[in-house]
Amino acid sequence: MDFSRQELIDILKDDSRNDWLFELADRVRLENVGDEVHLRGLIEFSNICKCQCNYCGLRSSNKTIDRYRIEPDDIIFYAKKAVDMGYKTVVLQSGEDDFYSREVMCEVIKGIKELDCALTLSIGERSFEDYKAFKECGADRYLIRIETTDRELYKKMHPNMDFENRVRCLKDLKNLGYEVGTGCLVGLPGQTIESLADDILFFKEIGADMVGIGPFIPHPQTPLKDCENGSFTLALKVMALTRILLKNVNIPATTAMETLNPNGRIIALQSGANVVMPNVTTKEFRAKYEIYPNKICINEEPSQCRNCIEGKIKSISRTISKGYGFRSNS
Ligand code: SAH
Repeated sequence: MDFSRQELIDILKDDSRNDWLFELADRVRLENVGDEVHLRGLIEFSNICKCQCNYCGLRSSNKTIDRYRIEPDDIIFYAKKAVDMGYKTVVLQSGEDDFYSREVMCEVIKGIKELDCALTLSIGERSFEDYKAFKECGADRYLIRIETTDRELYKKMHPNMDFENRVRCLKDLKNLGYEVGTGCLVGLPGQTIESLADDILFFKEIGADMVGIGPFIPHPQTPLKDCENGSFTLALKVMALTRILLKNVNIPATTAMETLNPNGRIIALQSGANVVMPNVTTKEFRAKYEIYPNKICINEEPSQCRNCIEGKIKSISRTISKGYGFRSNS
């Protein structure tokens, strides 16, 4: 099944057929990637960021958060704990923090790749040479959301950033042989339904292997503090349509969805998603990685998150994958 741009827009605007849409996405998920759910252990290793994204609580001008940086050796230590807990993929995420130079990141990557796991990076825009070095050290995947394909909106949301550079990053990563993840925010102020349809078509065009979609949640220490939440249902619809169009990609049930709906990740897993990224950051740092408020599980320890999500996944008769969870399913 392939939808035209106009069909995508019509479906996104019409809420009377949502059950049909979610069931179709669930079927396309089953046919293309099966019943297995891949768990990725997420380590949020630094909340220091030089960027100024208007929606993000980590933006550099937010002086109210307590900034932290996890030492390279400790990142490797936490990754080992995640692997010992059974995770087959470790995801390293941070703000854009120059402390983690090419050399420092390469050491971390090499240390983690001595463990039995796949490694995903989510550390923002870097040079081709950095991406190349990270790949040569063993990084397997890279997540960098395009956030929105509406160029005007992109500009408004990202002071001092350049849409074309973000696209350049995605293309470089693809050319270097990474599995590439991208995605968007749903419900940014001023965002149109038409642009969400364009976002979905963009994911396909760029050859995304993974697509993460989440509702925008206003953070009180940002210029968007008085804006409304993105809609959970609309985010779910964008995700379901992405599954239907891109077929066998990996799609996480995002944490932001669970923040807006207490059963959000399970609903997402039944509407096209096949991945969950439980937080394996230790409690002392969790609350400080506040990209948006009311993040779930900030008082939990890594093992609690693992048990909780396993239980939920089993309750809907899905299984937890023992593989690395590449798109090709190896
Ligand atoms: N610095 C990295 C990681 C960013 S945090 C990078 O640039 O890729 C990961 C994602 O959180 C972002 O891509 C963004 O889509 C999402 N995010 C940030 N602020 C948010 C908010 N207020 N509500 C919902 N999601 C948000």
